Amino acid sequence: MTVKCPICGNVEQWEGNVFRPFCSKRCQLLDLDGWLSERYRIPDAEEDGLDEAVRESGPTSAD
Ligand SMILES: [Zn+2]
Repeated sequence: MTVKCPICGNVEQWEGNVFRPFCSKRCQLLDLDGWLSERYRIPDAEEDGLDEAVRESGPTSAD
């Protein structure tokens, strides 16, 4: 039985492969890295939008 690595597309043996469904530790880490950066990117973009709205309707400092 073989499995295709979702990262690099290499076809590897399923049996005895500790990194499955990846072909190697490198691809396993690459997938984890991509998943983590995806997770951190989403709240960051939302905060940018909120910041703009607060600045727009903030109190005026014209005295
Ligand atoms: Zn791979």
